[in-house]
Amino acid sequence: MKNSIIRPKELDAKERVYSFDEVVMGYDETEMLQEAKRCIQCKNPTCILGCPVEINIKKFIYQLTQKDFEGAYKTIFEKNRFPSICGRVCPAEYQCRKACVFTPKNQPFASENAINIPLLERFVGDYAREKNLIEKHKNVKNYKYKVACIGSGPASLTVAGELTRYNIKVDIFEALHSLGGVLSYGIPTFRLPREVLNYEINLLKNYDVGFFTGIIVGKTLTLQELLKEYNCVFIGTGAGTPVWLNIKGENLVNIYSANEYLTRVNLMRADKFPTYTTPINTGKKVTVIGGGNTAIDAARVALRIQKIKKINGTVTIIYRRTEAEMPARRTEIEHAKEEGIEFEFLTMPKEFISDDKGNVTGIKCLKCKLSELDDTGRRKPIPIENSEFIIETDLVIVAIGLQANQTLLSTVAELKTNKWGEIEVDKNTMETSIPKVFAGGDIVGGEGTIIEAMGMGKKAAKSMLNKYLT
Ligand SMILES: Cc1cc2nc3c(=O)[nH]c(=O)nc-3n(C[C@H](O)[C@H](O)[C@H](O)COP(=O)(O)OP(=O)(O)OC[C@H]3O[C@@H](n4cnc5c(N)ncnc54)[C@H](O)[C@@H]3O)c2cc1C
Repeated sequence: MKNSIIRPKELDAKERVYSFDEVVMGYDETEMLQEAKRCIQCKNPTCILGCPVEINIKKFIYQLTQKDFEGAYKTIFEKNRFPSICGRVCPAEYQCRKACVFTPKNQPFASENAINIPLLERFVGDYAREKNLIEKHKNVKNYKYKVACIGSGPASLTVAGELTRYNIKVDIFEALHSLGGVLSYGIPTFRLPREVLNYEINLLKNYDVGFFTGIIVGKTLTLQELLKEYNCVFIGTGAGTPVWLNIKGENLVNIYSANEYLTRVNLMRADKFPTYTTPINTGKKVTVIGGGNTAIDAARVALRIQKIKKINGTVTIIYRRTEAEMPARRTEIEHAKEEGIEFEFLTMPKEFISDDKGNVTGIKCLKCKLSELDDTGRRKPIPIENSEFIIETDLVIVAIGLQANQTLLSTVAELKTNKWGEIEVDKNTMETSIPKVFAGGDIVGGEGTIIEAMGMGKKAAKSMLNKYLT
């Protein structure tokens, strides 16, 4: 079809499961030009409204059609410093691509032929990385203002990126030894290679951003200490605490939270077996519980761990609703299916079963049906009576959600939080109940997306500038 999307090349599903190599290859120049030229340069480009950081999508795509790659980079850079990251992991099908004129109105996600904006953005970011297009920061001494960011996920990185445009000194304090938040400990390398992630984070060092790892604010340092030294503080501590099912047997051996499992692979290098012998148990019959990105990532990682350890096994995802309701990205679901991940939809775990040594051996489940749409616009899973059955398993990964980490919040009584333990902010400014303390990302909105966290970071930076840093 004349106006069909240009599909990127991908590693073959049968082979890619034996490695953690990046699955989706970017466009080459010819493919990029073909895709960019499909954009009809709408008079009122709705795609821009679909982007939480408001990249001028129409302009950068036009510049690409003119082969003005540096111009395209500058256009994106004005709004977003992380094009290679966002071009790979932004759920564009729910954002800019959904708002593209090629997606009919009221569709829940982008139509197949909506312009592949993230892959065009990725082309620009990767071009800039290859050519090292970044401009150096002029050497400012005696900064007038200083801002501290807590956590180094996309929300804080964006605050730093925005404020350094105005010669503000930013220091980032991160609890882990590695920077990037979920981008580093959660998302596997086959979706986001670490050289890409580290390159775009390290660019901030050109702007004199200070990075301090291994610092847990609330333990190693207090918020009050930061407020004495910095004009403003941004809290971007994310939602890193796993939600559990709270059913019988959940503390059996070989039941992991997805966060722990993914951290062992991504940060403790279990993906580099046998070079690294990180302790991680490898099931023959792995079951992942959940339907979001985290569940899909955990399942695809577990499959690769089986393959590189030469274990002939299965990986099954259990989800209470149907595929249509899965919150995971559509492309990731397709990739998982291609790789041989199995799915048990409309299935609700009721109890974990063990052998006499306390190892998990099965999950007692109930079949479900879906209710009518409720007032949140979702269909509730309703367990069906007498539908009990058992799924045999020897390793379970629970990926049903994440919630706000309370380590810092529990040390600051004046910080207002909501019933989910997330920080309450003024939605227009992102300022918290403590003056000069701002917050954004998953610690404010609960589990969200990278670009939403970046959007909140941008808003917070703008408010700090308006109110305290001029
Ligand atoms: C496995 C997984 C896959 C995902 N895939 C996608 C995807 O493909 N696309 C997408 O858009 N979104 C995805 N998401 C969601 C997305 O990653 C998050 O919405 C986003 O990272 C939130 O950013 P953040 O800056 O708020 O916090 P985070 O990325 O969570 O970073 C918070 C950081 O703060 C640090 N921290 C916490 N407490 C302290 C403290 N007291 N002191 C110092 N540091 C602290 C943490 O160690 C962490 O590094 C995924 C999430 C997960 C878990």
